[in-house]
Amino acid sequence: MMQTMDKQILVSVDKVGRHYGALTAVHEISFYLNRGEVLGFLGANGAGKSTTMNMLCGVLAPSHGTITVAGHDIVKDCIEAKRQLGYLPEQPPLYRDLSVDEYLDYCARLRQVPKAQRRKRISEIKKRCGLSEVGRRIIGQLSKGYQQRVGIAQAIVHLPALIVLDEPTVGLDPVQIREIRALIRDLAQDHGIILSTHILPEVQAVCDRVQILDNGRIVFADDIAALSARMSAKTLLLSVRAEPDHNALLDIDGVIAVKRVGEGRFQLEIDDANNPAERVAEYTVINRLGLYELIPRQMDLEQVFVDITTNDNALHPEGTLHPEGTSP
Ligand code: ATP
Repeated sequence: MMQTMDKQILVSVDKVGRHYGALTAVHEISFYLNRGEVLGFLGANGAGKSTTMNMLCGVLAPSHGTITVAGHDIVKDCIEAKRQLGYLPEQPPLYRDLSVDEYLDYCARLRQVPKAQRRKRISEIKKRCGLSEVGRRIIGQLSKGYQQRVGIAQAIVHLPALIVLDEPTVGLDPVQIREIRALIRDLAQDHGIILSTHILPEVQAVCDRVQILDNGRIVFADDIAALSARMSAKTLLLSVRAEPDHNALLDIDGVIAVKRVGEGRFQLEIDDANNPAERVAEYTVINRLGLYELIPRQMDLEQVFVDITTNDNALHPEGTLHPEGTSP
């Protein structure tokens, strides 16, 4: 049983943490990546995404814990582990004065692609990344979207099992973003991908699973369907002159949870099949609370993210939060 699981798991991160002096940038986090999967890492600035990516890629040593890539320990067996991974850092490591062909040839040599295979490999990778027409162009003269494609091409030239992409669409225009996302989905067919971003719709567009990092901790880890289920949660925004009784609101048929969001303002999570809007209005009128507003609202991804990372799960008392990360 264990063996079958191991075959599926491409990356395993076990109780990994990183300190910078007195600062703990990443606490003890654990997670895994299956082959053929795109895992999205979301988090606000400073949440610890880049630190985690750097540790995954063997660029930064963890203060504690173990990371294995395709069964190889990234610290103890780093050469083998690094053979299995391709990395596109936030700032792509491009030589702007080289042509695309020259640069990819250089990367293929660095990555020890055998000489006999190099030409064919580079031609295949260029095709894959939509670069076939620009092989002779100087990298510094390409548009940012094309430069990003070159960055992805260098990450996959040695056909790694794992590709790690740190904010791959930052600074691109909407058309370029679509193209890079399509490329990522295409690459996921035969590679495992870990993608860090703080662009929320990106996660929905390309990832199978998502993890949200907050202050160096994984505060949400689930598949995209679970995130979408959170988004489909319907809420009512209630605004009144006088404060209602919290428990009395909860007692209203169809009200699932209550969260105070300001003075006299409450967010009610409701059962959509048994919408309590009329009963809530009736309650406020009978109790002379001075009803100002009662507005139906659907959560968007931004709201879900803010709810999760402000660490207030009052809306979801049963919660899907995993403060110590998740296990396979
Ligand atoms: P961003 O989206 O802004 O890139 P991030 O989620 O990638 O943020 P990290 O860059 O991993 O976050 O940083 C996590 C924390 O560690 C931050 O508080 C940051 O200031 C701190 N940090 C990162 N690198 C170092 C370093 N080399 N020395 C000291 N502190 C660091």
